[in-house]
Parts: sequence; structure tokens; C-alpha cells
Amino acid sequence: MPITFVDKKMRCKSCKKEFVFRKDEQEYFFKRGFSAPSHCEICRKERKKERRRQRRHFLKAINAAENVKIEISASQGPETSKTSDDVNVGLTPA
Ligand SMILES: [Zn+2]
Repeated sequence: MPITFVDKKMRCKSCKKEFVFRKDEQEYFFKRGFSAPSHCEICRKERKKERRRQRRHFLKAINAAENVKIEISASQGPETSKTSDDVNVGLTPA
């Protein structure tokens, strides 16, 4: 029996706004085994940008050799609203 998807209203964890998790998106997520998003499209894009920024920062830090650890902890310091997910992603080398 095929699974049918319907548009679903979700609330973004970041900005607390309601967004629609469209049925075509649900299908896409489902096919790839992703879990439902907990953030609206806008916040997801922002998070993506942030990850890219962290990655660049991290690669730069690697190039700077022995200062790597200091660089990373400094970049994570003041931003306490991050989830552990966000923190880990930037630290994974390519
Ligand atoms: Zn949002």
C-alpha cells in the first residue's frame, strides 16, 4: 500500500513560526530516510550558511596548524544557542 503524504503544519524550533512541510517535501525526506525538519525553510538555509561558514573557518584553522584548538573553541564560545548537531558539523574535515 503506498504511503500518502499530506501538507503538514510544523513549528520552527528557531524562530517559532509555523511553516508547511509540504507533501512533496515529505516524500523527498521519506525516500532518503531523513526525519522531519524541525526548522522552517528560512532557518534551514541560515543553518546551512552557518555550517559552510564554520567549515571555512575550520579549514582555515587547520592551515594555521598549531592554533587549531584555540581557533575552534574561540569560534564556539559566545554562541550558546547552538545545538550539538551544529557544533559537530563544522568540525568534520572534508
Ligand atoms: Zn524558522
